[in-house]
Parts: sequence; structure tokens; C-alpha cells
Amino acid sequence: RQAGPGSVRRYDPLLGEARDRRERLRADLVGARARGELGLVWQPIVSLTEQQVTGVEALVRWDHPVFGELEPEEFIPVAERAGLVGDLQRWVLHEATLAAAALPEHGAPLRLGINISPVHLASGTVVGDVSTALRATGFPAERLVVEVTGSTALLEDPAISADFAALRLMGVHLALDDFGAESSTLAHLTRLPIDVVKLDRSFLARVDKEVQTRALCASVIGIGGDLGIDVVAEGVETPSQLTVLRTMGCGFAQGFLLSRPLTLPALVACLDAGRGHLWPGQVGRVDAG
Ligand code: C2E
Ligand code: MG
Ligand code: MG
Ligand code: MG
Repeated sequence: RQAGPGSVRRYDPLLGEARDRRERLRADLVGARARGELGLVWQPIVSLTEQQVTGVEALVRWDHPVFGELEPEEFIPVAERAGLVGDLQRWVLHEATLAAAALPEHGAPLRLGINISPVHLASGTVVGDVSTALRATGFPAERLVVEVTGSTALLEDPAISADFAALRLMGVHLALDDFGAESSTLAHLTRLPIDVVKLDRSFLARVDKEVQTRALCASVIGIGGDLGIDVVAEGVETPSQLTVLRTMGCGFAQGFLLSRPLTLPALVACLDAGRGHLWPGQVGRVDAG
């Protein structure tokens, strides 16, 4: 293929395959945006009380000319190490808010979740980057949910706390993503200016099978209720998981059972078909709880 400006020109057969691939990705990532290889998919977030889509999460994809569609778990770390994650995030912020501003409305306006890399957070440009995107696209700050994952050290860093406060002042909501997966603790829910907590999908996998996991989820849901924090269960794959969540009073869910991440036209069709409500087959499953 035509070697782009960032392509790897030298192939060293001694490099390990994985490392070789990372180096290749790193070189190709530089021009990926300009070549139109980056895209977004959209996963609905459903209110279990309203039985309605109340939000969407934008998830980045890279359609690599040789490797095909790449998942963020592979190329975000590459971008982070190469100092390219800020550029990538600015693209995601702009594209996601631009598209979300034009989504059909059935009922309350949808919230938009965007994932922010801890490395981008640490770089100190997040507040400016978010406000630039909102100003350029006209998307209302109140409908944006910035999703962050992170270690205790990061989340308790004073500079980052100041950024969280600044985002909040703009009206932006904050979500603690993958809650329970890493070193996130219940104390974070009380100490950070968090509006949403997303229960990691590793919990969901066991929530209908293990009493310990159920107890943990129930305590997060309870604390969320007391503190006015929305709890979103991630990775809901089976009706039985959904039933348990509804029984525990979990407010929101996201997962393959409700919808896979969708292309933008498929998301629009889904919202229009259900008029914002869950589409018929899914409503049945939710009601089954
Ligand atoms: P996340 O923010 O926790 O996003 C949810 C991930 O779980 C998505 O994977 C989604 O496709 C997947 N998922 C949703 N429902 C189910 C389910 O029922 N079962 C299973 N097994 N998986 C489910 P994806 O799109 O591969 O993204 C992975 C991670 O990459 C995201 O996790 C997020 O941390 C990161 N990411 C995605 N987009 C961006 C971005 O624009 N910027 C940054 N910094 N990170 C991103
Ligand atoms: Mg994935
Ligand atoms: Mg997320
Ligand atoms: Mg997550």
C-alpha cells in the first residue's frame, strides 16, 4: 500500500510480533484521523425505571487499512505512549458532540458519555478541550458526561480535582467508569464530585450467581441512591442479570442484551423506531423482571 507519512518503512524480523504491531500502529496513528480511519460507535444507556434510552456512550474505533477494525483497548495505550492521545480525544470530543447534537429527541434529551484517558487528564488540557468542543458544536454542557477511570493516585491528584471542579462548574457531569475493577473505592463516591458511577462489567458477570457480588452491587446502588449518584450497570448480557439489577433498584443499564454499540444511522433508527423507548423485543425482556 502507498506509504503514508507516518508509515513504518523498515521491517525488522527480529522484533516480536506484538511489538512490531504496536510500532506499526504508533506510526500509522499519526495520520489516521486525516485519512478518515477513525470512527465512533454508539451504545444506548437505558433507564430501568423509565424503560427508555436516556443516554448513549460514544466509543472510538480505528479502521486500520491492514489490520481492519481495531478496538480502543489496543490503540488507546499506543496513543497514550506516543503522546497522541490528546489529539485523539479532541477528535472524539468534537465528533461525538457534533453528532449527538443532531440526534432525534423522543422525550428527555439524551445524555452523551465520552471516555477520557487518564493520560489526557494528567496532561492538563481536558477542561480547555471540552469547552472548545462544546463551543464549536453547540452541544449543551449539561448533557455531556465525562467518563473517567483511574487509580486512587490519579483521582485524588489536586490538579485533576481542580479540573473536575472546573468541568462541573461548566455544567458537565462526571462518571466514574469501570467502578470496582481497579483500585476505585467506595470512598471515591463520597470524596469526588461524581454524578454517575458505572459498575464494571466483571461484577455483572457474577451478579446473578454470587451472593458476595450481589451484596457489593447492592451497596454501591444504595450509596448511589443516598448521595444522588446515578448507577449504571455495564455489560448486561442476560435477562437474569437484568432481573437482579431491577430487583436491587439499579437505575440504569448498558450492555449487549439491550443493545450492542451501533453505527450512527443504526442508533438514529433505533431511537426513531422505539420513539426513545426500548424496542418491542427488549421491552418484553425488561418487563420479564
Ligand atoms: P468502557 O468505557 O467501559 O466501555 C464499555 C465497553 O464495554 C465497550 O468496549 C463496549 O463495547 C463493551 N460492552 C458493552 N456492553 C457489553 C456487554 O454486554 N458485554 C461485553 N463483553 N462488553 C460490552 P469498547 O468499545 O471495546 O471499549 C473499551 C474501552 O475503551 C472503553 O471501556 C473505554 O475505556 C475505552 N474507550 C472507548 N472509546 C474511548 C475514547 O474515545 N477515548 C478513550 N480514552 N477511551 C475510550
Ligand atoms: Mg471491546
Ligand atoms: Mg465508558
Ligand atoms: Mg466501563
